[in-house]
Amino acid sequence: MSEAEILKRYWGYDTFRPLQADIISSVLKGQDTLALLPTGGGKSICFQVPAMSMDGICIVISPLIALMKDQVENLKARGIEAVAIYSGMGKREIDILLDNCIYGKIKFLYLSPERLLSDLVRTRISYMNVSLFAVDEAHCVSQWGYDFRPPYLQISAIREIHPKVPMLALTATATQFVREDIISKLQLASAQVFVQSFGRKNLSYVVIDEEDKYKKLLSVVRNVTGSGLVYVRNRRETSEIALFLQRNGISADFYHAGIEKEDRFRKQELWKNGKLRVMVATNAFGMGIDKADVRFVVHMDLPESLEAYYQEAGRAGRDERKAYAVLLANHADQLSLKAKSIDHFPTVDEIKKVYHYLGSFYQLAYGAGMGLTFGFDLADFCKRFNLGVMKTMASMKFLEHDGYLTLSDNIFLPSRVMFTAGHEDVYRFQIENAGYDPLIKSILRSYGGAFEQYVKINEFEIGKRVGLSANAVVKMLGTLQERELLSYLPQTDQPQLSYLQPRRDFIHLDIDVKYIALRKDIQEKQIRAVLAYAGTPVCRSVQLLGYFDEPNAPKCGVCDVCLAEKKKEDQADLADRVDFEIVTLLQSDKLSVEDLITGIKSGTENEKLERVRELLDGGKIKTDGKYYYL
Ligand code: ADP
Repeated sequence: MSEAEILKRYWGYDTFRPLQADIISSVLKGQDTLALLPTGGGKSICFQVPAMSMDGICIVISPLIALMKDQVENLKARGIEAVAIYSGMGKREIDILLDNCIYGKIKFLYLSPERLLSDLVRTRISYMNVSLFAVDEAHCVSQWGYDFRPPYLQISAIREIHPKVPMLALTATATQFVREDIISKLQLASAQVFVQSFGRKNLSYVVIDEEDKYKKLLSVVRNVTGSGLVYVRNRRETSEIALFLQRNGISADFYHAGIEKEDRFRKQELWKNGKLRVMVATNAFGMGIDKADVRFVVHMDLPESLEAYYQEAGRAGRDERKAYAVLLANHADQLSLKAKSIDHFPTVDEIKKVYHYLGSFYQLAYGAGMGLTFGFDLADFCKRFNLGVMKTMASMKFLEHDGYLTLSDNIFLPSRVMFTAGHEDVYRFQIENAGYDPLIKSILRSYGGAFEQYVKINEFEIGKRVGLSANAVVKMLGTLQERELLSYLPQTDQPQLSYLQPRRDFIHLDIDVKYIALRKDIQEKQIRAVLAYAGTPVCRSVQLLGYFDEPNAPKCGVCDVCLAEKKKEDQADLADRVDFEIVTLLQSDKLSVEDLITGIKSGTENEKLERVRELLDGGKIKTDGKYYYL
């Protein structure tokens, strides 16, 4: 089957988008490739199609677990075998999936980067017939990028396992410098680089300096029709602004990572289907949500980098129809962004403290903890030890960088069980403990295969079936686990924190000070770029593209700066035309002000009077108090 046939057969699309075909053919030639496509440009097709035309399995590294799960579901729905492995899964569960990748018909293995740190995973990969390595969000490998993830540096190590397998690195944002860094960190050999322009012709970037942001927001929401997204800085503001919009008769809701999973999903679906018009959210919203007809994205505050801004604003207008990216920023915001960046930078001592508190939080003894994974509730942790959220998050990044731990993004893992004892032992237990018999029977009946692998269960449903509360079921499952009959992994919706090294004491905790200085430097540069963007009266698109190393981009003609320029030009044009008419009229006759004004065809009455006044002041026309003449 040709690549075009694969595209048609599995995805139902007739043609490739710009650059997709070039990228695919480069990969199929076995070349290392770096592809820069804007968000929504269709990056996944670039590795999925070639992988389908090659023998073996494609290993995809992706940092966003929600996105990874989406893609796996998506592939499965198209009849393609795919699996994902990320933090928080049990060791046995991972074992089984990896085995399937070696012996089964699985075409795609999605891995979150911290999984690459494990010997188990690396060893299994060495047994796999790998066709292609795809690295999504490849800018995460560069500490110069805006979202550096230390485990990404492990990717080059898996390359050594299969040196002949080509690698395709994909990203939606990378300056020239970051591109080169990606090529070097991923050890791409004579990489083919494909870059699609980051210009978005249908997107009108607007920056508004406004004290009353609520009022301005309301006017944007009222003047633009269709769905929109409003980004705010913190969780509290999401609900405040949603409420404000609701009070003004606008269908709006809020979203942040602290909301229960079911609720989050429900809100997201309502917005996606157009039943809810405006979503007010923190930056936790949007990643991996594929909604084409978003008409506006409003930022209520200055973003922390232009990379992040480009990504978030770029969620508007993916259907290529007219859309707006509005940034509301006043002078006070500029000052507070500068202050915030300094405020949130942890010192070495603060980083050490966070590490120490984590040890207490999980009640780990010194020397213990290596390889252990815990659900991490940031809000709870910060409250318990009276820490600032931003500073704590920043500290965790440094601890990650220094190899002490890793932290995944939010993930939802349903409850799972697997019997660890044999059929006979379980049967004997059932007979000896009649109280447990209905529960065990129910699991065996409703969730097949629980002796071979982990199966997803729902404690509530089991409870209903056997006439117990969900809590009672959880307790009994706990007991069964203690008796070593089964392994029970309760559901979680939290980021997963893994200790990569045994817990250390204060003295033996080394923090890379140079790296802190480097991050500070990078952050300052990013903030300077944001401030320049908001404060410079140059076409917004030219500025953004310039930042992403597309020099000499044409003016967009639709941003606030271009529109203001156009208005000025139009006004100058109009003045010229009115002046010309006045002089022509007066050439043939003296006229009263009324006759003169009626005689002029261009402009409004005010504009005409204004020009008459100007010409008088400049001595180009004269008046005796009653008539005007040359
Ligand atoms: P990205 O990862 O670049 O943000 P995706 O890979 O998620 O983008 O693709 C964005 C959307 O475009 C998806 O809905 C995808 O199915 C669609 N798409 C990708 N390639 C094509 C194509 N050649 N023709 C039509 N639609 C496509």
